[in-house]
Amino acid sequence: MVRAIVGANWGDEGKGKITDMLARESDIIIRFQGGSNAGHTIINDYGKFALHLLPSGVFYGHTTNIIGNGVALNIPYLMEEIRSLVERGVPRPTILISDRAQILMPYHVLFDTYEEARLAGKSFGSTRSGIAPFYSDKYAKIGFQVSELFDGDTLKEKVERVCELKNVMLEHLYHQPPIDPEELLRTLYEYRDMVEPYVCDVSAYLNQALRDGKNILLEGQLGSLKDPDHGIYPMVTSSSTLAAYGAIGAGIPPYEIKNITAVVKAYSSAVGAGAFVSEIFGDEADELRRRGGDGGEYGATTGRPRRMGWFDAVATRYGCRIQGATEAALTVLDVLGYLDELPVCVGYEIDGQIVKDFPTTVRLAKAKPVYETLPGWKCGIRGIRRYEDLPENCRRYVEFIEKEIQTPITMVSNGPGRDEIIYRNR
Ligand code: GDP
Repeated sequence: MVRAIVGANWGDEGKGKITDMLARESDIIIRFQGGSNAGHTIINDYGKFALHLLPSGVFYGHTTNIIGNGVALNIPYLMEEIRSLVERGVPRPTILISDRAQILMPYHVLFDTYEEARLAGKSFGSTRSGIAPFYSDKYAKIGFQVSELFDGDTLKEKVERVCELKNVMLEHLYHQPPIDPEELLRTLYEYRDMVEPYVCDVSAYLNQALRDGKNILLEGQLGSLKDPDHGIYPMVTSSSTLAAYGAIGAGIPPYEIKNITAVVKAYSSAVGAGAFVSEIFGDEADELRRRGGDGGEYGATTGRPRRMGWFDAVATRYGCRIQGATEAALTVLDVLGYLDELPVCVGYEIDGQIVKDFPTTVRLAKAKPVYETLPGWKCGIRGIRRYEDLPENCRRYVEFIEKEIQTPITMVSNGPGRDEIIYRNR
């Protein structure tokens, strides 16, 4: 059985926590897109971890954790992440890396940084992890697959060819020092030695695992609204964040994905630029940011303060639909217990009309939030394990959201810990 765990919003919904939790009953966990540009924060028996490239199943001895072909593979970063886990007492995880994954090159990070500097105030809010240059090269067919590291002569010739192109841009657009092809080749040989123990024909491995009836989790990064096709283009990421892409980024048949769990955050947060209709500011935002997540809403990779907002039912309903969500996990509900009342954005006003369907970016820029306000529950809810034990106004909030997003909420997360979860309708 394959289940995808994906974000229904702008990312940072708590996918890492849900994945870590569900990995207990899973055999294989796969990252299928993105790279080290976003982070998952996980709190479990070993402590608190911010994972960037490793799948969130690495904390169990019984799981196989896979970097799928769709990922932007930063090899030294991955090695460092494995090392830091082991150093903190986590048993060395079983890891496989797809031989079709492409390598995030040192110059991708440089190009990302130079381009952000060139764009200055008009930048997209990149995390400077090299993700956009990486995917641009992949689709321009000048990327490097892991498998190519093991083909010496061809590699040398390709490195020279690619450097020629990159150096024109470095010299004339960015006015920066050129790349030395020989040094780059040496780096790639080092990369080869680092990944060799992990390299695998992942789609063949998964094909066999499916025949053997294994439980497989696809772990998404970011959320629906950051998808390059269906999100708030161009303020999006460079690889698809949708469950459907899980089939491609892992190498499995699409019809094998039976369950799509959309992780939905009980309020809104976003990083980077782009329209954010239910955004709040000032003291109201500061308070939610301070109380939010686990220890405040600051990016796990960049430490940047996240933009905050009320729950956006228009964006989330669309986010669930475009994911094809079969169920939703509502997270960080415990954070909202301090509020007297909770505004929920139930519509967008665009050019004097009320809109319920999430618009394209051009129209989104004109949208103003239409709120409905629900009463708060004014108490803490951590430690509660049964849905019926939640305060009535809290249940009203959950059920209001469930109706709005048109997706059954089967899990309610009321704390960052692995066991802080309330199952519903099961
Ligand atoms: P991801 O990228 O979707 O995995 O999300 P992040 O890890 O970036 O952000 C989620 C943050 O919220 C992390 O700090 C989690 O520890 C925390 N978190 C997840 N679920 C809950 C919850 O139900 N309650 C609280 N208070 N924090 C949560």
